[in-house]
This record gives sequence, structure tokens and C-alpha cells, in this order.
Amino acid sequence: MREDLLKELELEYDQVRFANEREEQRRREQIMAEEPEIYALVRQREELIFGTLRNALRGPADAGNLAARMKELSAEIRSKLEEKGFSADYLAPVYRCPVCRDTGRTGDPVKEPCACLKKAYQQKLRGKIGLDSGKNETFESFDLSVFPEEKIPGQSFSQRELMRVHLATCRKWAEEYPDSTYRDLVLTGSTGLGKTFLLHAMADRLIERDINVLLISAYRMLEVLRKSYFENDQGSSELLDADVLMIDDLGSEPLMQNVTVEQLFNLLNERQNRNLSTVISTNLDMAKFRERYTERVASRLRDSRCCKVMNLIGRDIRVGGNLKA
Ligand SMILES: [Zn+2]
Repeated sequence: MREDLLKELELEYDQVRFANEREEQRRREQIMAEEPEIYALVRQREELIFGTLRNALRGPADAGNLAARMKELSAEIRSKLEEKGFSADYLAPVYRCPVCRDTGRTGDPVKEPCACLKKAYQQKLRGKIGLDSGKNETFESFDLSVFPEEKIPGQSFSQRELMRVHLATCRKWAEEYPDSTYRDLVLTGSTGLGKTFLLHAMADRLIERDINVLLISAYRMLEVLRKSYFENDQGSSELLDADVLMIDDLGSEPLMQNVTVEQLFNLLNERQNRNLSTVISTNLDMAKFRERYTERVASRLRDSRCCKVMNLIGRDIRVGGNLKA
């Protein structure tokens, strides 16, 4: 888990607990003003608790009797609340998550992240890398039926058949990572063939599996790299450290000769030295890729033992289709 996101979540959980306390206080004051009879029972129960504590400090109290009386009072409060149109637990402690009571941690003495914290973390990471949860770009929602069934001109297969294979490859990769057959993936093809959707679906699955993934457009990535090159900014460490780096739409970014190519080479090279996975989508075929980024960069992606190149071909299905490029 990323420390920066965990820090943000810790603050948010603090705020939630603070809001819970305020809400408890508000309800208590409301009952005090509107339902004095119930409030009197609440006070009785509190006196019992504090009285018990005082007695416990003095010596052994009649614990059994006290517990029974407490139970009675609580039942009375609950039924009276319902009688007056409130929920029975209107005066009970307020929290969103009954498992961790909004602390984000469970277990004693070993504190593990609660399921609610994991979910919130995944949501935050999705937002951070620009995955739009409203779009639901997942393998499950990938609609093969938007791809034409007729054979691609000059090929023995249809675009739909081809996408079925690519979809399966990407899914297997994201589900098996880090034990996938290939360390790196390259998706090539022109706009509107479904590359970005596949990238997003992979990122979504990896996040679900608690893997630190960074999805970034080539344009934004070059900005980060340039900044670190010219201004000695540390922003590029994120690009180096993510377990899986996904670069979307490589080839669409403005090319700054030497800087772009050099920075891209260093990034790919360094990640490969660390045995970290990189997934690239590009509108260039491998020949054009080499032309634009030089043989040196292309060679980083040529080893077929660790890099799988997937060519998406066919026609732009955004025309009349409902899939994002
Ligand atoms: Zn929880």
C-alpha cells in the first residue's frame, strides 16, 4: 500500500470518527429536548455505569445484578425510542463500519487493515491514477459484441475474434501477475480499437488484487520525466517504483528529441533492471515505434521471452459503438 494514500485515509477516518461523535452528541441533545422520559432513562444508565466504576474501585460489587439492571434499562430505552418513532439504536454509538468502528483496523493485538479500509484504499488509488469508477471499465463489462463479426479485409479472422483473444490474454495477465508468462505488454493499434479500455480493465483488476499500479498518459509521463530532467524534481520516482507502470497512448505526446527518447529509454531500462512490469499502449506499429524512439528503445521491448506485443487491428468501433478508444 502506498504511504501517501494511507496517510490521506488516516485523516479521513479521523474526520469520520469526529463526525460520528458530533452526531451522537446531536442525537443525545435532541432526545434530551424532545423526549425527557427517555433521557431520564439514559441518565439512569449512565449513573449506573459510573457508579459501578466507583464501586469497582472500592471493592467487588454485585456485578451480576448491575449487568441485569443495565440490560433492562437498555431494552427499555430501545423500546421507548421505537414507540416515539426513532430507530431502536438511535442512541447507540454511531459508525459506518461495525467491524472496525471506523478505526480502519481490526484485530488485537495485531492490527490488520479492515476490509472497509482496503476498499477505500482501492477507490482512492483508482481516483489517483484516473480510473473513472462511473465508467466501469472492467473485463466483466467489456462488450465484445461492439466489434464487427465479418472477417477483417486480408485476414482470416474477424475483429471480434481477435479482440476475444486479446481480452483473454490481458485478463490472464492481470489475474496471474506477478506470475504471468510475460513481464511486459505492448498493445499497438490505431485509435478506437479498445486499447485504453483493456488498459483500464487490467489496472482495475490489479488494484483489486492490491497491486501498486500506476496508469499514466504518455503526455503526462513525459511532463513528469522532463521536470525531473530539467528541474531535478523527484516526481519520476513514482514511475520507477510502481510494480506495474501503464503508459497510455505512447506516440501521441510531443516529441522532444534527445530528451523524450533518452528519458523513455532510461525509464524502461531501469524498470527492466528492477524486473518491474511495464504495459504500453501505442498508436504506432513496431516499425514506426522504432522510427520515433530509435532502435535502442525498441530493443527494450523486443525480447519475446518477457514482452508480449499485441496488435489490435480493425475499424474504429467508437463510430456507432460505445467503447472508449
Ligand atoms: Zn472497517
